[in-house]
Amino acid sequence: MKYKSTRGKVSNIGFIDAFMMGLADDGGLLVPDTIPQLPEETLKAWQELSYQELVMEIFSYFTNGEIPEEELRAMVQASYSTFRDPEVTPVRRINDELYLLELFHGPTFAFKDIALQFIGQFYSYVAEKRGVKIHILGATSGDTGASAIQGVRGKDGIKICILFPTGKVSKVQELQMTTVQDDNVLNLSVDGNFDDCQRMIKELFADLDFKSANHLAAINSINFVRILAQTVYYFYAYFQVAKANGGKIGKVNFSVPTGNFGDIFAGYLAKRMGLPVGKLILATNENNILERFIQEGVYMPGDFRITYSPSMDIQVASNFERYLYYVLDEDAALVERLMAQFKSEGEISISEEALRKVQAEFAAHGVDGQECLDTISDFQTKYGYLLDPHTACGVAAVQQCADEGEVTVSLATAHPAKFDEAIRLCGIEQSFPAEITALFDKPQRQVHVEGKLEDVVRELEKFYNA
Ligand SMILES: *Cc1c(COP(=O)(O)O)cnc(C)c1O
Repeated sequence: MKYKSTRGKVSNIGFIDAFMMGLADDGGLLVPDTIPQLPEETLKAWQELSYQELVMEIFSYFTNGEIPEEELRAMVQASYSTFRDPEVTPVRRINDELYLLELFHGPTFAFKDIALQFIGQFYSYVAEKRGVKIHILGATSGDTGASAIQGVRGKDGIKICILFPTGKVSKVQELQMTTVQDDNVLNLSVDGNFDDCQRMIKELFADLDFKSANHLAAINSINFVRILAQTVYYFYAYFQVAKANGGKIGKVNFSVPTGNFGDIFAGYLAKRMGLPVGKLILATNENNILERFIQEGVYMPGDFRITYSPSMDIQVASNFERYLYYVLDEDAALVERLMAQFKSEGEISISEEALRKVQAEFAAHGVDGQECLDTISDFQTKYGYLLDPHTACGVAAVQQCADEGEVTVSLATAHPAKFDEAIRLCGIEQSFPAEITALFDKPQRQVHVEGKLEDVVRELEKFYNA
């Protein structure tokens, strides 16, 4: 299995090189050159596997034979040994039609840990195998930063710099990043919003001289390995729901709280590989560019809104380009043209025929602030289960988009303790896990910069060359 770019000018890249390249050198995103098709017998054989065994099976289709099995197994074991639940991503039954897939049992209490614990191990592995320096550069709307830092803090040969929008992440998210004292970590608090941070890092990755001079490596979901690691829990969840129904289950919907389109793209990939997925329900908050795309076929950012679910406060969804590539039947020239048009005109639209394909695959619902809080309160009253505000968007979208008799797995992407600001507005007092309480007593480290690219570059060069 080799990798190619959605813009057609990069191809035949191996697995480790694709991981190290992050953003494709032509500005596109890397995708596998074919999507493996899993026969029904294979899916059947996987039903009883542990989470870690399932990672090994799924990765074996994508790693191009570049990592000896024992070495991959050691990385996978180390990655998931930090999780508080032995199942890694347990599935909770709410009723016959609704299950929650809990993705927040990792070190930073959000789903980003699932891919980033592995990516931390993998960067260490490559740093050692190839004897190269690795300078991670990432942008975060709150959760990726904390999670990536946990994945690589203190590791030899690796430095990490995270850009986050000043004042636009939750208190716990900020503390999880800034209380880490290791010298290989730099937190840059940047005036602006997440889109500004993401645009800057994409510009730096697209500057190939800067990228190679500074040994830049990506942890955002522009990196295909993140997507790959996230496909695993769609399979795992499906198997758990099938078992709960005595093995008799047809298609299952997945509802996914969405920002950068990374997580839901992983679900799309699982479906393309042959997992019996019904609807992919795309849940957004008031930053609903993707909801509008699915309803109308027009992709156009609106005004940026601050919401109760800050990790989804994103207008320009980087992974959207991967999906666009498949909807347009892998026409890289067309993708390149549309992305150039998006850059110059700030808007693209797709044909009626392509829109029909989109709507056959996805349903979408944008959840406003009141609906989010009401969903948290109602769910707590009805089921005694406290949803975080991102997960609440997903659950609210199930109520809008799933039909009677369908079974839906809704992704629980974060622990509510990370977003107490919203929980308190529901009049609910929660108790915090000890790991989160402890953060409030620790000293913080961060550097604040204004929102200009040159300010970011100055701090980066200082840090990477120190
Ligand atoms: C990152 C994040 C999301 C959005 O995931 P994408 O892959 O960006 O679509 C949703 N919920 C939480 C809690 C997150 O941290």
